[in-house]
Amino acid sequence: MRKGIAVSPGVVVGKAYCIHDIFVNPKTRRLAEDSIFAELRRYEIARERTAADLHALHQKVASQVGAEQAAVFHAHETILHDPAFTAKVRARIVDHHEAAPAALEHVLAEYTALFTRMEDEYLRERLVDVRDVIIRLSGHLSPVLSQDPETISGPIVLVASELLPSQVVALGQREVAGIVTQSGGQTSHAAILARSRGIPAVSGVPGILRTVKNGDTVVVDGSSGHVIVNPDSETESAYRKLQREFVHLKDVLAENRDLPAVTADGVPIELLANINNVEDARAAAAMGAAGIGLFRTEYLFLTHSSVPDEEEQLAAYRAIIEASPHNRVCIRTLDLGGDKTIPYLGHDREANPFMGWRSIRLSFEHPQFFTTQIRAIVRSARNTDGSQADVRIMFPMITTLEEIRRVRAMVHRVRRALSAEREVVDSVPIGLMLEVPAAAVSIESLLDVVDFVSIGSNDLVQYLMAADRDNPKVSHLCQPLSPPVLKVLASVIAACHRARKPVTLCGEMAGHPRAFVLLIGMGLRSFSMSPAFIPLIKDVARHLTIPDAEDVLAGALRLKTTSAVNRFMADQISRLAPNLRILDSA
Ligand code: PEP
Ligand code: MG
Repeated sequence: MRKGIAVSPGVVVGKAYCIHDIFVNPKTRRLAEDSIFAELRRYEIARERTAADLHALHQKVASQVGAEQAAVFHAHETILHDPAFTAKVRARIVDHHEAAPAALEHVLAEYTALFTRMEDEYLRERLVDVRDVIIRLSGHLSPVLSQDPETISGPIVLVASELLPSQVVALGQREVAGIVTQSGGQTSHAAILARSRGIPAVSGVPGILRTVKNGDTVVVDGSSGHVIVNPDSETESAYRKLQREFVHLKDVLAENRDLPAVTADGVPIELLANINNVEDARAAAAMGAAGIGLFRTEYLFLTHSSVPDEEEQLAAYRAIIEASPHNRVCIRTLDLGGDKTIPYLGHDREANPFMGWRSIRLSFEHPQFFTTQIRAIVRSARNTDGSQADVRIMFPMITTLEEIRRVRAMVHRVRRALSAEREVVDSVPIGLMLEVPAAAVSIESLLDVVDFVSIGSNDLVQYLMAADRDNPKVSHLCQPLSPPVLKVLASVIAACHRARKPVTLCGEMAGHPRAFVLLIGMGLRSFSMSPAFIPLIKDVARHLTIPDAEDVLAGALRLKTTSAVNRFMADQISRLAPNLRILDSA
């Protein structure tokens, strides 16, 4: 049994499908002179097949998901067709008598050395794309790697070192029942994918690929973080029972899609969804969300090779709004920087990117770009058929009163300019994301300038606890149920209520039963989360009365440590909703 980080709750027993680090066992044999031509031909065939794969993937993702998400495959085609790349591989085969997989390994090593020396973080990260193309190529050269997951019968548990962007998108269409990765934390690609689709997942299990091979039976307990390879029959049947309970529970929960989101004593609760693209918006509708509480616009920019202009942004926002429940979408302006950079904005390396030039700070430095986004958002409040949509705009990482005054003035200027152009201009409520402790301390003065507040607890927790949310080494500190975090949340929610300003919470904790009960106790009634968590949280709400939640909160606030709060809350969830225990985790 191995223990990793529990990133997406639930239990599954399935057959392993390993995505190996590319060259686990590269063939190093030297080619005989007379097989060089055949090897070049073999490489050429692999290249043609890879090109066909990429083209098909591009088409499929563009039609099923969207043009922006498909752009990554276009970038991969460009790498594949790059003459310098091909020349390097051919030279290794011809001059060094290397088999094609070994030649690719050398070329990858060369690119790795080149990319890691690059100053530009965005360019450095493009190494992922080169690796991705090389993996695909070697998949067509090596029978082990090219095994089609379809040949493995039963539910598949994906075991990977890390998941690459293109694998994440392509696997989205396939039945993946569980995910285990060697690296990554709660916010890695794999974790976000798994959570948004309700797939049990564990990350941070070093060396798991050395102990598991294709077709092995693997148990993934995404609630406790345990992974078991080839369990004995007793263990396997115990976990199969848990899996049946998990599947049954998901079905039961999915059935509550049309039930009202109310507490056991009839108080309405607003359950909204966090989304990155149109596909997520559809998932939100399918899960019974009341609307979109957080649309992260940076994914539109990250998947676009150049700046999307106003009309392109408008079209993208309208498509999202149209797919969203009640045409209700809270659009967050660009939240780039930190770990997300794009080349066209220019970005120097910084010692502390999360504390540096990110998010709203970066947007202010590009007023023209920022204004274009605000214009597209304000215009998107009017649907193409002339009807009005429920669009709100919110600004990330607000730290000071000056900042929120400045964005408010920008929105007003945009509205005036649009009216002057004879556009119909609708009112778009303006909100701030409460993510910085300084803003929590001075929330009362900030509230005078905004229409609503959305608590971004992922960032708020990392800044309050001075613990990077992506670093597994400090994950014991980055805990939303720690007593100081609970105190700050309670005081922010109370301040919003006193000022009669709507407040919602859109961090990951909104989808965790323990946190949800405590937040209800604090008086919060609006939550935004990954769509897959909505049925679960609705069920928790339906088991809970307000006085119950207030009592639980009072009990939790008396505790002095995070582990004491977690133990206490695990007991409370078992008492309040024993049926949901399997989906409860810290
Ligand atoms: C947050 O910080 O809680 C949040 C919702 O924003 P993101 O996760 O995109 O930083
Ligand atoms: Mg944030």
